[in-house]
Amino acid sequence: METAKRVEYETVIGMETHAELRTNSKMFCGCSAVFGGEPNTKVCPVCMGLPGSLPVPNERAIQYVVRTAMALGCEVNTPTIFHRKNYFYPDLPKAYQITQYDDPIGANGHIDILVNGETRRIRIRRVHLEEDTGKLTHNSGDVSSLVDYNRSGVPLMEIVSEPDIHSAEEAREYLVALRNILVYLCVSDGKMEEGSFRCEPNISIRPVEQEEFGTRTELKNLNSFRVVFESTRAEVKRQEALIRSGGKVQQATMRWDEARGITIPMRFKESESDYRYFPDPDLVPLEFSDEYLAAQRASLPELPAARTRRFVEQYGLSEYDAGVLTAERGMAEYYEAAAKASGDAKATANWVTVELTRLLNAENVPIAETRVTPEQLGAMLVLIQDGTISGKIAKAVLEEMFRSGKDAKEIVREKGLVQVTDTGAIEAMVEEILAANPKEVERFRAGDEKLLGFFVGQLMRASKGKVNPGLANDVLKQRLAG
Ligand SMILES: [Zn+2]
Repeated sequence: METAKRVEYETVIGMETHAELRTNSKMFCGCSAVFGGEPNTKVCPVCMGLPGSLPVPNERAIQYVVRTAMALGCEVNTPTIFHRKNYFYPDLPKAYQITQYDDPIGANGHIDILVNGETRRIRIRRVHLEEDTGKLTHNSGDVSSLVDYNRSGVPLMEIVSEPDIHSAEEAREYLVALRNILVYLCVSDGKMEEGSFRCEPNISIRPVEQEEFGTRTELKNLNSFRVVFESTRAEVKRQEALIRSGGKVQQATMRWDEARGITIPMRFKESESDYRYFPDPDLVPLEFSDEYLAAQRASLPELPAARTRRFVEQYGLSEYDAGVLTAERGMAEYYEAAAKASGDAKATANWVTVELTRLLNAENVPIAETRVTPEQLGAMLVLIQDGTISGKIAKAVLEEMFRSGKDAKEIVREKGLVQVTDTGAIEAMVEEILAANPKEVERFRAGDEKLLGFFVGQLMRASKGKVNPGLANDVLKQRLAG
């Protein structure tokens, strides 16, 4: 009898992402688009959907979507039009959302991501522009709901990938890369915790040899990259366990239960809603001239992937370090300025990614707000290079710079931290240490060479870390040799 071969499953994920655009005003009215504020204070007849009000498109928002489409390698459709998506729900007082349907601004792009050292291309199906809805707060106590229309009408960009994502890691890396691009372009602040960058993975699995897609579920309300990763992984496991035990996946919207580490169905879908899309008669088609498109393309900034490649080539950094430094635009710019000031690109990369990042994380300070300017960090690294301070002292100096904003030179002078390079002074300290530890000297001379570390430690303590380590080793070895 033959044993049945165990079926292997492949994960298939498509990602829908919504990013609130960083404009001053809303998409079709002059109300403020800034996050927060007392409920229903940033509203007007247009975003409240009062009869007779007319929408006027926000030019900046359109420009942001055009630039994003270009950065993602999409074709830009011209002309492009707005549609009405009709549905009745209290978060949308007009009973329709202005969005784009069959002519999105951007189509057919891609993002390349690096997962486990391998480059994977995730195709982008479409990039379109729409308006955000209001925010409902449901009170379970008295079964009432509150609605805040401050968010209603805020420009929202939707980016939809093809189902090219095949694991939770890829899902996370795709979102990290996409968010970085939007932040580089300054089109969105990318704040997941404030809801200005939201994602909905739709997930299915299928036997590896099968072409037809499995039934998919959609994950909602994921507010961090970690949650995206954990919930996606859990949902894939749930589907696989269900199918292997003879069950069937039902099309559903799922939520993540953080405490239990599982996905839970919020609602099952019976059929696709009919939104009765039709072109918005209040809005004219958008036509982009060749000059306009050329000007947008020419003024795109250097994007993270290109900058990573340049950092590897120009500064000789590892792919990993270059990736860390370019993930955030502010970090990349800081690094380049500091490397220029220090003249040592590799050492600067180490200090920025390790010591400075540690201080920033500990105090939860974004790099744009640190008191240590890149020029000051570069000047401190010069003090290490010319032997004025040791690397060990430099860590303490950087901490002090971080707290006070003072120059490294000033701190070194004030605290008397200049490295001891005077051989006579070091020898005097060594004599005292040897005299105070005769047993260790004897053991060292009998062949226990590991004790050299002990003597170096003693010397560092006696000099408060100010002895040049190379010199300390030399003098100690010489004296211990007898
Ligand atoms: Zn308004």
